[in-house]
Amino acid sequence: MSDASQKEKLRQHFARRVTTQARVVLDIWQKVHANSEPFSTHREELLSASEKLVRYAKRFEMAGHADAGNKILEIVRSWPDDTPLNDATERHLQDALDALARSTLRRTDQTHTEAPHQFRRTPVYIALANVEMASRLIRQLEFFGFRAAAFDSAEELAEACALHKPETILMDVNFGGSKNAGIATIERLQERHDTPVPIIFMSDEDGTIETRLRASRCGGEEFFYPAVDPGQLIEKIETYTHGNTVEPYRVLVLDDSRAQAKFMETVLRKAGMTAHIITDPMEIIHALDIFSPEIIILDMYMPGCTGMEVARVIRQQDRFHSVPIIYLSAEDDVTKQLHAMSLGGDDFLTKPIDPKHLIATLHNRGRRARSLLALMIRDSLTGLYNHTHTLYLLDQEIVRAQQKDQPLCFAMIDIDYFKKVNDTFGHPIGDRVLRSLSMFLKQRLRKTDHIGRYGGEEFAIILPNTRPSDARNVLNEIRERFAELQQPAGDREFNVTFSCGVASWNNEPSQTLCERADRALYTSKEHGRNCVTLADN
Ligand code: GH3
Ligand code: MG
Ligand code: MG
Repeated sequence: MSDASQKEKLRQHFARRVTTQARVVLDIWQKVHANSEPFSTHREELLSASEKLVRYAKRFEMAGHADAGNKILEIVRSWPDDTPLNDATERHLQDALDALARSTLRRTDQTHTEAPHQFRRTPVYIALANVEMASRLIRQLEFFGFRAAAFDSAEELAEACALHKPETILMDVNFGGSKNAGIATIERLQERHDTPVPIIFMSDEDGTIETRLRASRCGGEEFFYPAVDPGQLIEKIETYTHGNTVEPYRVLVLDDSRAQAKFMETVLRKAGMTAHIITDPMEIIHALDIFSPEIIILDMYMPGCTGMEVARVIRQQDRFHSVPIIYLSAEDDVTKQLHAMSLGGDDFLTKPIDPKHLIATLHNRGRRARSLLALMIRDSLTGLYNHTHTLYLLDQEIVRAQQKDQPLCFAMIDIDYFKKVNDTFGHPIGDRVLRSLSMFLKQRLRKTDHIGRYGGEEFAIILPNTRPSDARNVLNEIRERFAELQQPAGDREFNVTFSCGVASWNNEPSQTLCERADRALYTSKEHGRNCVTLADN
């Protein structure tokens, strides 16, 4: 037997395991549903069978089954074990099981076409009356590494949404033909989801306030009227997709009472935040160093020192000058609270803490702190790190590479003949190209890589734990794909290339590393541009 057919056989064998497990789950549901047995008698069985299904489906990369299994788990886990199902929940479960049944019938799940990287990506759905525009968008989105699908009818869209909750939907207001039919479809779809799907609406004909209001009420995050060009749309789609989901806030809690600290930890974790708890004020400096909090909660009264004193010490470090500090105490004397705030605190919460109030305060503070920080460290055109912050991150990564004895690479990218792009198509189109390269890099590099805008049309990339040959290959692949990307300019299209220099860290200061990457970039330019050069060590 050839290697290929042996592999194929093995794959089919694995696929069968997943589908067999899917049938087990469907059978249990059948017992609950058709024989009207109480849900509670089968809850545990359904849970463990679904868990097994998800485990298998993930291992053998069968995305449809894994998603359906996860949906079932999510619904069952959130339902108390001794209560009969209510109608809405039963419907949700039925939908999830229908999706599973469809996946089990679908052949596509079992073919090679489902590449592993698609497994992690949820789709972007496009429902536009203009078919040509839709297919042009899909081509572009696929270049950026998105997974996109277009639909001809509301029914197809609804079916696809049941199989896979999309990250965002681009929707024509009048999709389906009649006035506001697209909005009506979205209203129905949103009822199925606990958290609404963000929708980008567009319309060629209708930009009235009534339509805009209705669109916004059913999850419309954007409203384009009159319709826009694909470049702008893709930028919007990018902001609503996975890579940009908010990172959990990092909250440091200092409270000498172990019980109180534990309670806070539980509340924060439940709210999806990352908590770091200490009970000894003397550990604060170390905690700041290793955890780098975005928000700090301090108990007011502790043995040895007060929260106010700790706040002053924290504020003495430049890096934590603007980190929000929230005091926690049984103190309800307003004068004392005001005094505490004047010493460098931002907020005051009185014990016993109401978890809802605590989380709302943290979200507000965290959001504002992040947008302030973004102004300081990010470039406003592309959202990438600015020059200063990129160099700061490089220094940090060098320390880490040294500690962990891992390789580290630094790459510089410069767009070729960019001046000509500006001269031919105008500065705004030039800006669009810069943003498209920035999106391209964000989509295609790992989350652990740092991407910065180094200067005008120059970008810098820090690749931790990466060997030089791997860095060169990754960047070469990105370079080739980027060169194929059609850049829209009105009704014309053009291509842009870049040159790149990569240097691998060689126990040197960051400045020397940058210079070597820059020289390698210069070599790429000399060798005719549109290529990647690896610097000699
Ligand atoms: P080379 O292949 O040698 O790199 O040629 P080049 O034309 O890309 O290089 P050059 O340094 O001569 O020109 C860079 C151009 O980038 C000049 C400047 O107007 C343009 N540029 C810099 N920053 C921005 C920006 O933020 N937006 C736009 N649209 N253009 C910018
Ligand atoms: Mg340049
Ligand atoms: Mg250039």
